[in-house]
Amino acid sequence: MSEERDVDVVVLGSGAAGLAGALRAALLGHEVVVLEKSDVWGGSAAMSAGAVWVPNNTKMGEVGIADSDEDAWAYLEAVTEGKVPAEQRRAFLDGANRMIGTFESETGVRFEPVGEYPDYDTDRPGAKPGGRPLEPLPFDGNLLGEDFATLHPCYPGELIFDRFMMRLAEARALLQPGLKPKLGLLRGLWHYALRSRSRKLLHGRDPYLTLGQALMARLRAALNARGVPLHLNTAVRRLLTDDGRVIGVELASGERIRARAGVLLATGGFERNDEMRQRYQHHPVDAGWTVGHVGNTGDGLTLAEQAGAGLDTEMMHHCWWSPAVLPPGEPTAWVLVIEKSLPYGVFVDRDGRRFVNEASNYNNIGKAMYEAQAKTGKAVPAWMIFDSRYRSKFPIGPVKPGMLQSDRKVPERLRPGNGWLHKADTLAALATEIGIPAANLAESIERFNGFARKGRDLDFGRGSTLNDLHYSDPRVTPNPSLGPIEKAPFYAVEVVPGDLGTKAGLRTDTGGRVLDAGGAPITGLYAAGNVTSSVMGGAYPGAGGTLAPAMTFAFLAVEAMSTDVGTARPRSSHG
Ligand SMILES: Cc1cc2nc3c(=O)[nH]c(=O)nc-3n(C[C@H](O)[C@H](O)[C@H](O)COP(=O)(O)OP(=O)(O)OC[C@H]3O[C@@H](n4cnc5c(N)ncnc54)[C@H](O)[C@@H]3O)c2cc1C
Repeated sequence: MSEERDVDVVVLGSGAAGLAGALRAALLGHEVVVLEKSDVWGGSAAMSAGAVWVPNNTKMGEVGIADSDEDAWAYLEAVTEGKVPAEQRRAFLDGANRMIGTFESETGVRFEPVGEYPDYDTDRPGAKPGGRPLEPLPFDGNLLGEDFATLHPCYPGELIFDRFMMRLAEARALLQPGLKPKLGLLRGLWHYALRSRSRKLLHGRDPYLTLGQALMARLRAALNARGVPLHLNTAVRRLLTDDGRVIGVELASGERIRARAGVLLATGGFERNDEMRQRYQHHPVDAGWTVGHVGNTGDGLTLAEQAGAGLDTEMMHHCWWSPAVLPPGEPTAWVLVIEKSLPYGVFVDRDGRRFVNEASNYNNIGKAMYEAQAKTGKAVPAWMIFDSRYRSKFPIGPVKPGMLQSDRKVPERLRPGNGWLHKADTLAALATEIGIPAANLAESIERFNGFARKGRDLDFGRGSTLNDLHYSDPRVTPNPSLGPIEKAPFYAVEVVPGDLGTKAGLRTDTGGRVLDAGGAPITGLYAAGNVTSSVMGGAYPGAGGTLAPAMTFAFLAVEAMSTDVGTARPRSSHG
């Protein structure tokens, strides 16, 4: 890049918000540049499952589910519990559909509705049994050329047999009995084998992309087709201002890029900044518990504060929570999105007591862990206890089901007895090993087993909603979410409130304009995604509930830039 240059839009961050904003800018004819601090692009979004939650979307009919604006509004109102201004929610509901429609009609970014993926709070008014999550269509990484090598790899839990990706429904089917899932697995293996030549050329990287990899690859391909540059290893030192207006950025190298229309902060959350987490969040907390992108250290918050933005301190303790485990030697924590809900397992605190409906949505469990911690001081960390039937059928973090990977075949660092995965012949011995009261654990498990046999969890209602049953085992009766914990040996693993990222910081208006401490927009400065306080408040409404607002408000922010400075002009040369 030259020492000093002008563009219309400068985007900081190459995740969901960054690339969606850049694409909207390109479609509006703006000259746009994307600056990414790290040496890979895609942010947490490239690790994500890629679901984008769009209520009342035009594709729901394809999966036979009816929705309406009234239902969408009622649900969003219920889950956000009066904490989010109505105009923000309205902007999201209208903008999300327009964002998807625009990208689909004008670019190669494509989605399909996921029919069997219920909203996460299925007991709230306006909830739907599926169809709101949109899944990106698979993409061939070869089409990205050299840029494929610098796409952030997927989250390790998304690789089947540590090798290849599948689509959402295919991966979920692997938990189900019968021939169909096994055939799906064989088909996946067969196609993987057929791609061996491609992998050789790509240094072992499999080009069949689904989930968040497909989403980000499709966005990047659309940007490439329009000649939008994306610079890696490019850190911004400060925002350039002139009389209170943000006019561009100064890079760490000293180079300056002026932004005629605006600067979009899409730098993700502050999940990897331990100092900020200790300052703003409930304790105990640790930046090592997140699975968010390593580059998400809250830079956008600091930059915006320097330009006069106020932080939404009341929201800062919120995250997109998920219970997680910390397997030694792994590059990341592992979230228990699926494991927590499967039969033959429960969560207990360090007093041996249950404290939550383990099958409720992962965000609620993070919140419940901190609520229980505030009451008892014993729920962070907590324990997941499970029996040999769980161990045999289901995974736990990076450890595969026992039928595929017996305890002896588990890598030594993760093997029972080596400090992470605990195992004992009796529940009493397990309790002693992990240092919790044996009598309490025995009582909790006995009570849970009674509920499991009757099919009703009278304490926490586990297994009573469609969401609870999404990851369950239909072979288990009378309730597929509730399997008694009774077959030795017994296992335990420590559970922390992990997260997919933080979700609060900059306050923005319906056009993504960053607001100052007094609530007035800072001219020229826009933000979207996890650097902002979420339109979802403390909720996680359904699969895709974070990507959808990140992309929508980035889209709206760039449109707002156009109206704010009137710089939109067609540039047909960019295709
Ligand atoms: C394993 C996993 C699964 C998930 N599944 C889903 C899902 O299915 N659906 C869903 O809705 N959400 C999901 N999420 C959450 C979702 O990925 C994030 O909420 C979303 O990516 C946030 O978008 P963003 O653009 O704000 O941040 P990100 O996508 O994280 O992008 C931020 C980017 O900004 C860069 N950056 C930071 N500082 C700077 C700087 N100073 N200058 C330039 N660049 C900078 C970072 O390096 C990063 O590349 C998942 C997350 C994970 C980790």
